[in-house]
Amino acid sequence: MTLQPTPEQQAILDLGPTSIRVRAGAGTGKTTTVAMVISNLVANHAIAPERILGMTFTNKAAAELAEKVSNLLPDSVDPARQVEVHTYHGFAAQVLSEYGPLAGVDTRSGIITPTFARQLIRDVFFSAPHDLLDMTYRGTLDRIRKLGDQLGDHLSGPEDLLRASVIHAGDEIWAERVEIAQALVGYNAAKRELRVVDYSDLVTLSTRLMQAHPALAGTIRDRYRVVVLDEYQDTNPAQRVLMTTIFGNGFPVIAVGDEDQTIYEWRGASAQNFEDFVDHFPTAEGAPAHDTSLTLNRRSGPGILEIANEIRLEANSAADALEAADDLDTEVFTYWGQDALSEAEWIARQFEALHESGVPWSHMAVLFRKNKDFAVVIDVLGRHDIPLEVANVGGLLSVPEIALLRAWLSVLQNPEDSTALAQILFGSGYRLGIADLAVLTGWLAANKPEEPDAEEPEPVTLIEAIESLDQIDGLSAEARKRLDRFHDTYRELLVETQSMSLAETCRLILDRTRAWQDVEALPPNPRLTARLNIYRFLDLADDWSPLSGRPSVEAFLDYLDAMEEEPAEELDSARLSGEDAVTLVTVHRAKGLEWENVAIPAVFDGNFPSGPAGSYPDPVKFSYYLPVELRLDTTVDALPEDQQERSALLRARHYAQEWRVAYVAATRAKRRLFVSGAYWYGVPEVRVTPAKPSPLFTLVESHPQSVNAGHAEVGARPEMLRRSEPDADPDPLFEGGWQAALRMAIDDPSQLDRLAALHGVETQYQRLAGEWEERLFSLDDVGAHGPDEKSRSVSVTGLVTYAQCPKRYYWTDVDPLPRRRNLAATRGSEIHRRIELDQRGQVPFDDMELGLYDALDEPEPGETGGYSAYEGSRFAAERARFVEAPFGVDMGNNYTIRGRIDAIYVADRHWEVVDFKSGRRKDDPSRMVQLEAYAVAVNDVGFGDARPETVDVTFAYLGGGLEVVTVSADDAWVESARAHLTALTNAIDAGEFTESPGEWCHTCDFLQFCGPGQEEVSG
Ligand code: SF4
Repeated sequence: MTLQPTPEQQAILDLGPTSIRVRAGAGTGKTTTVAMVISNLVANHAIAPERILGMTFTNKAAAELAEKVSNLLPDSVDPARQVEVHTYHGFAAQVLSEYGPLAGVDTRSGIITPTFARQLIRDVFFSAPHDLLDMTYRGTLDRIRKLGDQLGDHLSGPEDLLRASVIHAGDEIWAERVEIAQALVGYNAAKRELRVVDYSDLVTLSTRLMQAHPALAGTIRDRYRVVVLDEYQDTNPAQRVLMTTIFGNGFPVIAVGDEDQTIYEWRGASAQNFEDFVDHFPTAEGAPAHDTSLTLNRRSGPGILEIANEIRLEANSAADALEAADDLDTEVFTYWGQDALSEAEWIARQFEALHESGVPWSHMAVLFRKNKDFAVVIDVLGRHDIPLEVANVGGLLSVPEIALLRAWLSVLQNPEDSTALAQILFGSGYRLGIADLAVLTGWLAANKPEEPDAEEPEPVTLIEAIESLDQIDGLSAEARKRLDRFHDTYRELLVETQSMSLAETCRLILDRTRAWQDVEALPPNPRLTARLNIYRFLDLADDWSPLSGRPSVEAFLDYLDAMEEEPAEELDSARLSGEDAVTLVTVHRAKGLEWENVAIPAVFDGNFPSGPAGSYPDPVKFSYYLPVELRLDTTVDALPEDQQERSALLRARHYAQEWRVAYVAATRAKRRLFVSGAYWYGVPEVRVTPAKPSPLFTLVESHPQSVNAGHAEVGARPEMLRRSEPDADPDPLFEGGWQAALRMAIDDPSQLDRLAALHGVETQYQRLAGEWEERLFSLDDVGAHGPDEKSRSVSVTGLVTYAQCPKRYYWTDVDPLPRRRNLAATRGSEIHRRIELDQRGQVPFDDMELGLYDALDEPEPGETGGYSAYEGSRFAAERARFVEAPFGVDMGNNYTIRGRIDAIYVADRHWEVVDFKSGRRKDDPSRMVQLEAYAVAVNDVGFGDARPETVDVTFAYLGGGLEVVTVSADDAWVESARAHLTALTNAIDAGEFTESPGEWCHTCDFLQFCGPGQEEVSG
């Protein structure tokens, strides 16, 4: 593929392999330019592709860059010779995996995510008393983590803080800082014990390693001829030092970034890196690196760019203004409404009008500065029958279907969670009324143990009340029926989810609560909305892995809590489904994305631009900010001694970053931008004073390019922001409809108080709810439901891996080693997902392990493969009776085999059990284990009322056009399969984990640790 470079791009290409800084403005084709630079180095400077190292921030960006580069490479280049593209953290991890022991790092260490780091800090923090740190304040943990992250960002550790504290004896702030440092020393010890490292450690340890062993740095440097650093504005000082240690002193380094999109300073990005690049990475001749710019914006029309350029100036940008490459028609509208609901109504009407004129929903997006603003917009767009997809976790938790699923997880984990129970019982599934609640709590009151101090007082919980319904008088027949149904479902779930994986648990809840049927019964657009958001949540549950051990519901719920409060982990840009739905996403997650039409709501003073979360990062006043003397970017962080001057400087820095966030938001739009706000926000508690337009709103509203679509006069403060009116079938229990009531309960359970007041039963409700809550929190759990420690579970995926190579299974499941991200698996998962969408079932079982053998082979260029092979097949023409059907087969030797079948097609009493493979046919006999497990599952478990008379098990290979391998699973075959599966699980139990080399070694993550594997590959 050939692309014609613009003059700006050509000027960069003409510089050849040398150190260059490229200031690439928003929408100027940054990734394309990087790909052009690399292909130019290959084509015109005789540099082999594999000797070019590309570095970017996220896995997604790394994959996109690798793909773009391979598309641009000259035809003469062997496609197997790839440019090496890493994330910054991935590169550091590779350095450690090669030379870790020299830095005292066990190469088998796992990497923990920020959420788990927080959990580990919490465990360490609460294990010892503290004099100065407030152990009752939950923000204390965040402060410890914050300071730990900053230390890592500047290549320091808690020991450095303790050393620095010596000269600050008597200083209160430093005394507190010393306690934080001590907690971090404990955290580091805990990590060593668990054999894990966090993201900061990766960079810190690898940099120290390279600094201590210059010869090793030279070895790594000699592998490459040029390094290309993408998104360089988001790097922190530690990452920069790692780069300069290996690639400084005249090595050709090309950095591409946009200082105007530095929006991650709060998590360590240093604006000074980009500013000082030309000095940090001089040319081979010792001169400052070349400085170039890309200003021709190919995304947005001139009207939007004019406004974006003005926003940029508010951030004190020194970069050149953007110019529109094309004279696109653009429109910018502002609207200031009475309250959040009328504002969301306005957005909904604008989107409806666009859609009526032929614009797909997927060309529209709503970008939020904060998670809290999602809920109202989700509600109102839903009421307008607009399909929508929430693309980040914080916002996703505001979606009613997800809130309900989370409530079920919570109740299964902890039956005393009264908020979650209320959500479920008042929700659409059961619609319990306040009068029914009164009866239940009355029974609880009457059955209160008379002698609480008796040796064995009988505990009575709400669950037990529900289990004793036949003893309770006064319940309506309908309520009794609903509570019976709840009880059955709850009990089934408790039993069946005992040893299930997290993702399987979520899927089972959706099955048992008939959530999918409810979704399928919705009209088309709400159905698409519900499906997309449930899929996204299930993807999250699938991808998520815990600190140690198997993913548990408890740890996942903790993770969700943390994500709701602190979306810092969501650094990757959003992954969109491609369905025709409006995207709802935070601005931070929208970086790198674009839409024809973008709405930015809640642009009110203090919200966007946002005020500081707490305080400005002043290390003189607050113990949890890194002191200037330990920072590596001292130019940026030299702080005035005078308190007022210092505050003014920190304030200005904070708002400059907020304006850059606004710049990122505005430059996502191609043709239309809708900027809005309102006076009254807050659900359920409306703010006390009306909101004012923020400086950002005023800038856009007063700009000559924008059209004022309305600016309301301030009205009286509403008592509450009532959500949309019900559109059909008014609920007899909730005037505003069950969805509104549920959402109110989700937002704040105290909203039920108001509802009771509306019904005139406030006093009665308060008394009974109080009694109920007292019971819930004072009585014992309904019983231990933890997994049976003795029983063991192995996935079908694990069994196939074991059949291939027991050692690989050992390093994957028993004593896991770090593993590479598998792009083929990601592609395979996507195909499965699309098949499932097509079959209208559940989300595919797309964990990484499955992908290892499920998606090894991509179709050759020109071959018909992947999803299109499925589309043309008999499998697409027919509806499967079961899709993504989970099962667990007890092998009778203490092992349960768990798995999920892609599809089961039923014709009369004949079943065809199908597993779709995104790769091409492989006759590796170990794969047959999968079909054996499916056949035994169908025989033992059954998936429907009527058992099949005959069963075929099929692999449908989609990789090179459809190829089908089918086996007739008659009784003899099933028994032989059972014997084979039993033998495999017995061998696992006996600890037989010898290497079994074969062609699979080529794709084994553990090759570098495995002698027999290396012999196989080299032979
Ligand atoms: S390299 Fe080969 S032999 Fe070694 S663990 Fe991996 S698959 Fe097994």
